Amino acid sequence: MHQTTAVVERIFAIFSDWCKDRTWACRKGCASCCTQNVTLTTLEAQQIVTFIRENNRKEWLAAILDSKLSPHRPNYTINTLARACLAGKELAEETPSTPVPCPFLLESCCTIYPVRPFACRSFLSLKSCNPLQPALVDGAHLAAATAINQLLEHLDQGKAWGNMLDILTLLLNERKEGENGNGTRHTLRSQPLPGFMLGPDEYDQVAPLLERIFLTSVGGRTIETILNGR
Ligand code: SF4
Ligand code: SF4
Repeated sequence: MHQTTAVVERIFAIFSDWCKDRTWACRKGCASCCTQNVTLTTLEAQQIVTFIRENNRKEWLAAILDSKLSPHRPNYTINTLARACLAGKELAEETPSTPVPCPFLLESCCTIYPVRPFACRSFLSLKSCNPLQPALVDGAHLAAATAINQLLEHLDQGKAWGNMLDILTLLLNERKEGENGNGTRHTLRSQPLPGFMLGPDEYDQVAPLLERIFLTSVGGRTIETILNGR
């Protein structure tokens, strides 16, 4: 397994363990949160492509990506927003229009569940929610999810970042044609971490989680060392 893939898997596992402290309302078959507005890095998208290839479902994925989709395309990556925020600037992000169900849903279950991106793993609610009732989360959870999204983007810096369906299109086309496909015109580029978008209280809440991630070893090096490019 490639080292960065192993790092992503360790981060997912540590975050999942950290989430066990609270009782979530999320359960199998509850899927109104599953929309086409998921964003991710190429590291996460590659895990999906590998999973689909191993299950001989490449044509199935290509058909999904060729179908009529309505993904929301963000204007900025999370680290771009963080850089602006830390510099005291505001960047305007458009509010997504009415969300459309994710094409990976089948009978209200995720068909790529073992390799779902971090955005899906971290979208949880303390109370049962639906399109009219927003998810309920505490500030610590939101802060932790944002910080981890920032780490994942940093780990994949320089590569494409954007809506899941665009990034998957990009990876599939690269694999097929040896060049960037249609997905590129909709994608952004992952940026290095400019600092965490965390207030002092949030930092205190999230620090034990970040410390656990940084001190975890993958292939004989700590994740902190890997994130620092050493
Ligand atoms: S976030 Fe809401 S809709 Fe999604 S699984 Fe949890 S309770 Fe269900
Ligand atoms: S990838 Fe899976 S978990 Fe994520 S939004 Fe789609 S169906 Fe839901």
